[in-house]
Amino acid sequence: MSRFFCLFFVSFASFCSFLSAADDRPNILFIFSDDHAYQAISAYDSSRNKTPNIDRIAKEGMRFDRAFVTNSICGPSRAVVQTGKYSHLNGFPDNGARAWFNPAQQTAPKLLQAAGYNTAVVGKWHLNSDPVGFDYWQILIGQGPYYNPRMKTGDGFVEHQGYTTDIITDVTLDWLKNKRDKDKPFFLMYQHKAPHRNWEPAPKYLDKYKGATIAEPETLFDDYSGRELPARDQQMTVANHLNDLDLKLVPMQDQTPEQRAVFTKAYEDENKKLEESKLEGRERTKWNYQRFVKDYLRCVDAVDENVGRVLDYLDETGLAKNTVVFYTSDQGWYLGEHGWYDKRWMYEESFRTPLVVRWPGKTKPGSVSDKMVMNLDFAETFLEIAGLKVPSDMQGVSIKPILEGKDPADWRKSVYYHYYEFPQPHHVHPHYGVRTDRYKLIHFYTIDAWELFDLQKDPHELKSVYKDPAYAQTVADMKKELKRLMDQYKDDGTTVVKYENPNPPMPKAKGKAKAKAGVS
Ligand code: CA
Repeated sequence: MSRFFCLFFVSFASFCSFLSAADDRPNILFIFSDDHAYQAISAYDSSRNKTPNIDRIAKEGMRFDRAFVTNSICGPSRAVVQTGKYSHLNGFPDNGARAWFNPAQQTAPKLLQAAGYNTAVVGKWHLNSDPVGFDYWQILIGQGPYYNPRMKTGDGFVEHQGYTTDIITDVTLDWLKNKRDKDKPFFLMYQHKAPHRNWEPAPKYLDKYKGATIAEPETLFDDYSGRELPARDQQMTVANHLNDLDLKLVPMQDQTPEQRAVFTKAYEDENKKLEESKLEGRERTKWNYQRFVKDYLRCVDAVDENVGRVLDYLDETGLAKNTVVFYTSDQGWYLGEHGWYDKRWMYEESFRTPLVVRWPGKTKPGSVSDKMVMNLDFAETFLEIAGLKVPSDMQGVSIKPILEGKDPADWRKSVYYHYYEFPQPHHVHPHYGVRTDRYKLIHFYTIDAWELFDLQKDPHELKSVYKDPAYAQTVADMKKELKRLMDQYKDDGTTVVKYENPNPPMPKAKGKAKAKAGVS
């Protein structure tokens, strides 16, 4: 054999080995739910329910006890996950009528796709513009219904019959089994609508928790006396702001007559008793809480069951060995804490989000991290897992070293938050703030109201010590840290590079628009 051919074969062999090495890059499965409180995951807290499948990820991987979001609301959180940038830079700060993710900007899925990953997103998208950077997508339109969803793909619409959580999983498994390019590693975003408002359970879970009493949080009857105006001024209380659809006192709108008959029957006896009892005041609030939280947990049950179906498929096919599995939510949620449902606040329950990650061979099973991580870090983490360089304009930090059991000495010691959407739908005043290990400083900047919480002494955040002279130095230190983070993240507190729908729909009738705003 001539020297030329020998060289050719050696080079070809090296090229092939490069290709095969490239193909060994880990798959990434990002399981994302909507409004799933860590208080409703038994790996965190088993006082309310059991989530054996999500717990499997924690048991076989790592649980993060201090995972936070930059802006606690659906669309904006999703834009942060795509870009690794805060809302004021990614152009999607709120779920307003013209909110529109700028599809031209840099995203992690685009970079993964360009680097040879087979990419897909299935389920709730909620960024309004069509997904870009995905080889396959099938998404709910806006929030999407709990039953019989119409879903959008690159090739048009698909009409589904059945329960949305099951359907999103069916479509996901179909992609994994039949549609993906098996010569490439995959990046799959498997994203549930549940357990978002208005919490319609699947038929099989309608009777679960019947007769049980779910524990009430200590702060269900919070009087907001230890805080500034915003905590009192909101519209998201279990006592007064759940509507008849939320409470299942009227027929659901997204079901077939057959589905509705089964659904309505499940609530019939309890609704009749409520009508006869004429409950008022605290007793009615307690009833609302039980109704809301049980439906919420029933929706979580279906999510957990379906997560199990996907984990089983990974196990059966051997894919599990080389797949990093994330389970997280777009933010946290109030399960009656402070008397609330919904999210938005920098107070702990909505600021924090659940996060468990399994990476066989890399992440120690059953490990727990108290490092402060954020949804801002996902894009960077996906890229590093794929062996790619993180672009310098992304603002988060890859958590890959933490997953590998390392203890990065220079890891962040504080987190920055900024919420915008006001006044509708829940009248939560805009605010930004900083949280450290022990303290949290919040500035409701449109009314110039400040709060400081000592989380060690006051974990439920009931009494602001901002005006307490004993905390004067802490206030000064925290303001300095807030300024440092705002500079670092290029947020001057007011400027938002907002991107809007270039072809907005015609304005809706006032009454209808209002009703829709109530479920954002
Ligand atoms: Ca959400």
